[in-house]
Parts: sequence; C-alpha cells; structure tokens
Amino acid sequence: VKSSLAFAATLLLSSVSTASAQDIPADLAAFRELYKELVEIDTTLSKGDCTVAANALAARLEAGGIPAENIHVIVPPEFPTQGNIVAILEGSDPTAEPFLMAGHIDVVEADAADWERDPFTLIEENGFFYARGAADDKAMVSILVDTMIRFKQEGFQHRRTLKLAATCGEETSAHFNGMKYLIDHHRDLIDAEFAINENGNGRMNAAGERVMYTIQAGQKIAQNFQLELTGPGGRSSRPQDGNLIYDFSQALVRLSQYQFPADIDVTVRNYFEAAGPVEGGQLGADLLAVLETPVDEAALERVFADRQYGPVISTTCTTTLLEGGHAWNALPQRVAANVNCRIKPGMEIAEVQATLKRVLGDDRISVEPMGETLQGTTSAPPLTPAIFDPIRQVAARVWPGVPVIPALVPGSDDSRLLTPAGIPTYGVSGQFRSADGDGTHALNERIRVEVLYDAREFLHELIKIYSNSGPVFD
Ligand SMILES: [Zn+2]
Repeated sequence: VKSSLAFAATLLLSSVSTASAQDIPADLAAFRELYKELVEIDTTLSKGDCTVAANALAARLEAGGIPAENIHVIVPPEFPTQGNIVAILEGSDPTAEPFLMAGHIDVVEADAADWERDPFTLIEENGFFYARGAADDKAMVSILVDTMIRFKQEGFQHRRTLKLAATCGEETSAHFNGMKYLIDHHRDLIDAEFAINENGNGRMNAAGERVMYTIQAGQKIAQNFQLELTGPGGRSSRPQDGNLIYDFSQALVRLSQYQFPADIDVTVRNYFEAAGPVEGGQLGADLLAVLETPVDEAALERVFADRQYGPVISTTCTTTLLEGGHAWNALPQRVAANVNCRIKPGMEIAEVQATLKRVLGDDRISVEPMGETLQGTTSAPPLTPAIFDPIRQVAARVWPGVPVIPALVPGSDDSRLLTPAGIPTYGVSGQFRSADGDGTHALNERIRVEVLYDAREFLHELIKIYSNSGPVFD
C-alpha cells in the first residue's frame, strides 16, 4: 500500500510539473527550451561563464537560419569568461537606420544553500518560473533571440536592419562591462538609430493583476563613494583616547537622516501625471500635489517615504558596506564604508561628493568616487510619438485596459552607456513584476509564466512595427 501510494504521488507530481510544458504550441515550446537552456547556464562572475551562454545562443541562432557570418561571439582577450554576442538580421532598405535590441546574459550571484530551489535549474511551479536570471535578464534575452529566429522562419520583411546585443558584465560593471566594450571596440556592429533594453517593467498587484505598464524613459546613475577615517588607534583598555568607530558611526547616522532636495524634472512630471490617477487614494493625490507650485510639503514627505515613487524624485545615497578595526583589544586605526548613490540626471558627481562631505560633518572622513565615473550623463532621451505610440498600440492588444506610463526608474542598467554614446535607449521589457520585485537580485528569483509568454508576444509585435518604421526622431 505504502509503495503504491508513493507511486501515485510521484505520478501526480510529475504530471503537475510537466503539464504546462506539454500543452503549449510548438513555437512556444521551442522558446521555452531556449529559455531553459540559457537560464541553466551559470553566468555569475564568481563561478559562471558568459562565453558558454553566448556560444549557446549563437548555436540557436544558426540553427534558426541566421547566417553564421551575421553572428558574432565577442570575447575580450583579457576576460575569457565574459563573452558577448551580436547577431544581425539585414533589412531590405539600406537607407533605413538599424534598430538595436539589447539585453544582458550575466546574472547576480546566487548561493544555492540560501535558495529554496536550485538557482540554476529552471523550475516551473505554481504558475511561476524560478531560477537566477529567470527574470533579470534572461527572460528578455531569450525573447529577443526567439524573435529573431521567428522573423527568419516567418520570412518577415523589414526595412531596418535588426541588431541583437546580448552582453556580459551588466551586473558587475566594475569588473568588466560588455556593452561598454562593444561601444568602444565594435561600434559598427551595434550602431542604431535607437534601442530597447531591459527594465521598463509593469507592476502587478497581489492578486496577479496588471496595474500599470511602465516603460523606462529615464534612469538614475549609480555611483559608489568610498568613505574612510583613519587615526593612530591605541589600547582598548584606555577608551579615553577616542574611538574612530563611534565617530564614524555618528557621521553615518547624520547621512542616514539626510534627504537630497526634490527635483521634479520633466520625466518625473510626466510619470506622476500619468500614475496619479491610476494609483488613486492618498498616494495618487500626493503624486499630483507635488507637481504644484508651491509644493505641498506634507505630500512631498509622503511621496519621499514611498518605495515606488520616493526614489525617483531626488538623488539618494545609502551605505552598503562597512569595515573597521584590526584587533579585538585595540582601538580602531581605520574605518571605511561604501556609500552607493543613485544620482538624478543632471546632477554632477562632484556635487554629490561635496554634499556627502558636508552632511557627514567630520573633516577627517575622506569621500572619494569609486570605479568608473560617468560625468555629465543625460539619461532621459526624448520619447517621441514614433517610439511611444507603437508601445501603447501593442500594449492595448496584449493587455487591454492596462495604462502605459513613461517612468523614471531609480535603478540603472546599460542604457546609461548606450544613450550617451548616441544610441537613445528605452527600457521596454514587456514584463510585469509583483510589488515585492519577484526576487530580482535577491533570493528565489521568479517570473510568472504568463508574464513571460505575454512579454514574448508583446515584444515580437512591437519589434515588427519598429523594424518597418520611418525615422523616429525629427
Ligand atoms: Zn538586469
């Protein structure tokens, strides 16, 4: 009895886990296979290999009929595991400027011991796909590769040349960034009039209903600063000599209480004007109130406190790493921290640095920008009707009744490199996330199966329109 019950349970489990994979059309099943293969290739910086993933995508594209000479796996000599891929579908009109589809194949670290399921096995459960990269950004990359293959197989005619750039190092740019490498060394391969990239994710409510679709019309710039305080130290038996850890902590508390001034620029204004009526209630009213002159201070305070809208109205800085001391019985000689800032377009790095210095309020603490510095970046390219209208049209077909809103997002991605390089880039993933972010960059990353499949239809239709459009800028 026991064994037959166990057998029945096994049978039930296996039928549950495979049913949805079997009942889908052949083209969708092929997409699912491609997605599964990509997700299951570990592309973390520590243990993974983007070059393996780039080669796997190259094989898929070639099997899909894309000529081998139009598929470029680009591996920087100094970074053999940081491979990238560019693929090109030639358009019929040599006077039409190309269109670029961008995404990244590397993923954030994932320690299997902390996850409920193996992070590098695609698991479909309760209507979700679970895996590291299931959303960020292997969902979009799989869709873009699949779209190219479908266009080829459908014999779809397009005027513009379509380019795909799937790069490594988006999550670990301080080590190597594939998009920057392509801009610097293979500009001709990726050159385009405009581009779409990851992010621009819509929002779902707890019931899994689509609340709004936000495209990423602009983004903040990430910049790290190293804070350091050093001194002579001493014996911990004589705390009267002073303690750098306490001094440093008090400075960090001052920083934690500081709020950069609100900067309601045109992107924020467009975003809040559209989102206010959709949100409704106190929050909706507040979003509209902060656009008034003079600004409603109480409303502004509430918007600052909101995790969705607060981060976009000002530069923010927060401490992310801390180190200090050198012995259990000595007064510390050195305390240091990393402060991660998300800077509003138009604010200079030097201004943020000076503000940090002033707010920390201790002249002994040094504040230095770390890693690559992007001075004077403008990250909100014009959202012309030729770019925005097709998004609205296709959204109305795929998700009827869901408002489409151009948003400024607090995060940053490779669009911050493409736009200043002269390829205006918009975050249009066609995806939706739950309010909790669905584990992106965190534990148990997931995406709703339906969200992924609908995003595939959305992008396929949108790219069809873009690939035959006239110039999108005047
Ligand atoms: Zn990403």
